[in-house]
Amino acid sequence: MSRQPLRLAIIEAVSVLEEAGVPSPRVDAELLAAHLLGIERTRLGLVPLVDPAMVDAYRAMVAQRAKRIPLQYITGTSPMGEIDLAVGPGVFVPRPETELVLGWALAFLEGYGRHNPVVLDLCTGSGALALAIAHARPDAVVHAVELEPKALAWARSNAQTRAREGDTPIVLHQGDVTDRTLLTALEGTVDVVVANPPYIPEGAVLEPEVADHDPHSALFGGPDGLSVIRPMVSNIARWLRIGGAAAVEHDDTNGAQVAELFAQRRVFGDVTEHPDLAGRPRFVVARRVPTDIEAHRARSVRSTTAE
Ligand code: GLN
Repeated sequence: MSRQPLRLAIIEAVSVLEEAGVPSPRVDAELLAAHLLGIERTRLGLVPLVDPAMVDAYRAMVAQRAKRIPLQYITGTSPMGEIDLAVGPGVFVPRPETELVLGWALAFLEGYGRHNPVVLDLCTGSGALALAIAHARPDAVVHAVELEPKALAWARSNAQTRAREGDTPIVLHQGDVTDRTLLTALEGTVDVVVANPPYIPEGAVLEPEVADHDPHSALFGGPDGLSVIRPMVSNIARWLRIGGAAAVEHDDTNGAQVAELFAQRRVFGDVTEHPDLAGRPRFVVARRVPTDIEAHRARSVRSTTAE
């Protein structure tokens, strides 16, 4: 068989995906073609004709996507910041909205000024936030926690890939971020905490890609979406060093509630709500401030040393 126009194969794919109810049929059709050809999506126009074998392979991939298998499980990767994470069954696919938490963390570290900052990523999944921070800040000491063994295996393999590429290795811990005895050795030492915990309220209606593929333990946070975040905030209070800060992603219905969880505690100040790209409430930032007693103690230490 002779070579065929790529454009026609893509048009066919768009209609197959549209028929299957895929939310962004053209983008997905183009990304699958680009993945198969090993090129950027923006360069597809430079490939007029493709081999019949490529068309067959493409149709097979499109058929998988039409079954509402997540695009990233088919291509095998999902980006975060400047890196790509390997993903597949058993691990949550990193989402674009989490890039905002990454952006906040990097900007905070920039302004914070401390060299070799200690960073803690809770519910790391594929390792996305931890590894993207380690890539952008080679001087950081990055710890990451994951509960699920399957997800942890993906994080471990992504961490090995990044270390091979020359990034500073991260420290992975298996653990439950709601456990009050987790990582006691890090108490009072962490400069930045980031978290994309399970936060969808139970019973929410989700797209099949999410409901049938992302691990449920990575998605649902109890009846109100706060069952992981609530105890996690107590732990963040233990881990942060005075002056450090945390960013916690949450359901768009829970902005005020998550802000309140931080604001209730005297150890947190400067609590701010942040929207995602669609303008919905998406993450809360809080700073670890000195309590009255800590401030008093700091003042008396200063006056003693001044004498
Ligand atoms: N933002 C994700 C979604 O909409 C949920 C992420 C999470 O629970 N951590 O599917």
